[in-house]
Amino acid sequence: MFLRQPAALTLKTGNTLSRENLLILYFKSMNSKAASSYFQGGKRLTRSQAKLLASQDHPSATAFTEAVAEIRKPQISKLKRPHLPVRYESAATSQLPPPKKSSSNSDDTDSKPGSLTLKSNSKAGAKANNNGAPVAQQDEGDKEMSKTAVWDPSHWREMLELIREMRKEKDAPVDSMGAEKIGDHDAEPKVYRYHVLLSLLLSSQTKDQVTSAAMMALRNHGCTVDNILKTSDKKLGELIYPVGFWKKKIDYIKRTTQILKDKYNRDIPATIEELVKLPGIGPKMAHIIMDVGWNKVTGIGVDTHVHRITNRLKWVQKPTTAPEETRKGLEGWLPRELWSEVNVLLVGFGQQTCLPVNPKCSECLCKDLCPYGRSALRYKSPKGKESSPRKK
Ligand code: SF4
Repeated sequence: MFLRQPAALTLKTGNTLSRENLLILYFKSMNSKAASSYFQGGKRLTRSQAKLLASQDHPSATAFTEAVAEIRKPQISKLKRPHLPVRYESAATSQLPPPKKSSSNSDDTDSKPGSLTLKSNSKAGAKANNNGAPVAQQDEGDKEMSKTAVWDPSHWREMLELIREMRKEKDAPVDSMGAEKIGDHDAEPKVYRYHVLLSLLLSSQTKDQVTSAAMMALRNHGCTVDNILKTSDKKLGELIYPVGFWKKKIDYIKRTTQILKDKYNRDIPATIEELVKLPGIGPKMAHIIMDVGWNKVTGIGVDTHVHRITNRLKWVQKPTTAPEETRKGLEGWLPRELWSEVNVLLVGFGQQTCLPVNPKCSECLCKDLCPYGRSALRYKSPKGKESSPRKK
């Protein structure tokens, strides 16, 4: 049987199986409790667990151990990531709490850079639990699962919980002076949305304290579309100074505000596509505007803090050089319900602990899990010369 010959990837039916599919079929072939709990609980079966089962003379586990040894060889060279485990995650398992670090297998996985998660719908999950299903039926499920294989970082849930713990006081500048806070909540909705847009526009290359002061000055002046259009550039400059690139931002504010008046009835656009066409509005701002202004989560707002920290934590599969690249990488695996939270959480964390230069790794709760922090503490300064991801 092909299970004992993992190098043979072509079935009698003529279908060629990927190596991941072959591994899944191994799991499915097992009738043991371990196989059942693997699929029902979504737990990862590590090599040491397989060996343990093998030591108990479990025939399927022995086959699995042999298969892993065979299958991993080409995977290593292809993915350039040693010891890459494959994990099956059903819809139910995505809600599971983070694995306990004290588990006997934690040492095995601590140094692993990430894992492949095979997501499937409930139909495929039902097939997986049916140990007696014919192989042809299993093949269909495997093809379906193989198409949706996604990478996710090791221990990300534990790190997220630890960052939440460090941020529980909510006393970072972003918590009181972020875009959500500095608009006038008592104004009519479209005026509030205009404030959100302006505060994001002002915030690039500017500290939250300075952005907040500029927004308060604009609000005291009268921050409506009509009033800003009536305001001279000189006066506008006096109101927003010293935000970064304030001269350029005067131009952005005036042109954007004119477009809002002419095209959107003094409101702001309600789609990412239209928002990024406005002068001075990039994808990061647009996603935050959609979230804060329209209460719609369309993507992760990745600024310099989120970009830097997720690279340090290795929450991106390979190092990224631009926030937009980081956003796409994160959105590939981070559950959508966390997209809104992760921006404010990491921005504040970057303002207080995971600083751009000299991050406070020794007092960070993530220091045992964070690759950058472990390196920084072991060698006193991080391995390699960069203190933050390179910018394009
Ligand atoms: S250990 Fe250091 S680099 Fe890692 S998240 Fe904490 S502060 Fe940042």
